[in-house]
Amino acid sequence: MSEEQISDRSVQQVQHEAMSRKLKKVPFVEIHGGRVAGVVSSGSSAERVYVSFIDAGTTNYYCSTNNNRPCGGLRGGPCKHIKSMLDEAVIQYGAAKVLKGLKIEADPATIHRGSDIVRHLTGSKVKEEASIVFSRFLSYLRQLENPNSVMPSPEMTWFIVG
Ligand SMILES: [Zn+2]
Repeated sequence: MSEEQISDRSVQQVQHEAMSRKLKKVPFVEIHGGRVAGVVSSGSSAERVYVSFIDAGTTNYYCSTNNNRPCGGLRGGPCKHIKSMLDEAVIQYGAAKVLKGLKIEADPATIHRGSDIVRHLTGSKVKEEASIVFSRFLSYLRQLENPNSVMPSPEMTWFIVG
């Protein structure tokens, strides 16, 4: 292997602390493809995670388990997983970006946490497939587990977004 190949790493070293054995509450959230989507760990079972998302514009939302079972907390409005996902989105991306990602007209200065965004959601529950979000999450985990690969990673194309 030439020196050039070794130094030409496609992925930067990533801190591993966030990915300790216990998943954090919201291990994954992104603003992508006209929606804010995330994976939220279950409070009661380590085996189960919830996949939540909100579509931009309509602000329709949905939440289901990784086995595609509908979340029981969706009756009458967004569940706690959606709120947790938005909490994390505001922390990671900032209120202005999350509002823009959802096409919500609101003053970012009034948004401090997920529940501040939930108040602006006017959409309703719409059943959608969780597997797309979930497979993106699994790709993301693979990136964290394999940070020093010298091979170009096809999965990284997921992260080049407009
Ligand atoms: Zn839920």
